[in-house]
Amino acid sequence: MIDIAPPLRLRLDRDALVANWRWLAAASGRAACGAAIKADGYGLGAREMMRHLAAAGCRDFFVATWAEAAALMPLPAGVSLSVLHGVGASDMVAARLLPTRPVLNSVEQVARWREAGEGRPCDVMVDTGMSRLGLRVEEALGGALGGLTIETLLSHLASADEESVQNARQLAAFRALREAIPARRYSLSNSAGICLGADYAFDLTRPGIALYGGTPRAEAAGHIRQVAFPEARVLQVRTVRAGESVGYGATWTAPRDSRIAVVNLGYADGYLRCHAGTGAATFGAAALPLVGRVSMDLTAFDADDAGAVGEGDWLALGYDLPATAAASGLSQYELLTGLGRRFARIWS
Ligand SMILES: *Cc1c(COP(=O)(O)O)cnc(C)c1O
Repeated sequence: MIDIAPPLRLRLDRDALVANWRWLAAASGRAACGAAIKADGYGLGAREMMRHLAAAGCRDFFVATWAEAAALMPLPAGVSLSVLHGVGASDMVAARLLPTRPVLNSVEQVARWREAGEGRPCDVMVDTGMSRLGLRVEEALGGALGGLTIETLLSHLASADEESVQNARQLAAFRALREAIPARRYSLSNSAGICLGADYAFDLTRPGIALYGGTPRAEAAGHIRQVAFPEARVLQVRTVRAGESVGYGATWTAPRDSRIAVVNLGYADGYLRCHAGTGAATFGAAALPLVGRVSMDLTAFDADDAGAVGEGDWLALGYDLPATAAASGLSQYELLTGLGRRFARIWS
């Protein structure tokens, strides 16, 4: 077999991941702290996320689809997995075969689950203000859930990352649901919801982005550590003379004779064009600002202050999530989920 070096590396820090989960678990008070690992663990690798978090004590995991659930089989011992999109007509075979629970999202899904007739436990999502997935409150209170064995009753906060009156409204609606609908556990908060305080935690929290290094609200700043560190390789270092331009559209012109490091990274890897103007990499202690436009597979960085950098060297991309989101206009979520398949995911 030919041994081909990966063109890009995504360094993943297990200790940071576990430290983030522990902080979120402590902030969840008496509630258990689960983990949202949908979209392949926010692009970082769901299987490894589950393995490391389960080893740290996390017991409750959430994916979006049945294909995501199937890819995680067999589950580690003692772990529970829920499928957030519930059961469509074509999902029932997977739902019967896999040791997971659907999160039922509509009256139709409830009927489908009941018809399957096995009485197996399920989770249920009730919409308290997101208008995305979930039964309406009046449907849930009006008897639509009778006869189900509900493991976890869920709702999802729409504005937890903001100071919004909607948070207290959703909290009140969820408390009323808890009084009326029997379930073994109740779960409301994502990462930002955990930061709203113990009132919002109920029995189980479901953080995603903060596990992976995102800062959902100011309360988490200074506590959440960066988990994902993308690195790209230098293909060549070239001299660009004063007055010459770099890249498509000639959007950057060298103000002086410059050394430019061209790296094997581009928007096909999820490093999008909106990083132009603010993106940067580092080589050791030296900073290399992005110059010109990002291409599909190539990006240029000004290497004037990185005297030693040369072909084959690895540059670390600036990828602190809150700072990079603020600079690029992308959300912290998009910064992670966009990272492409050419990155080798490497744990340390
Ligand atoms: C994605 C998701 C979460 C996790 O949200 P974060 O903002 O990433 O913490 C929790 N609950 C549900 C229903 C989700 O879809």
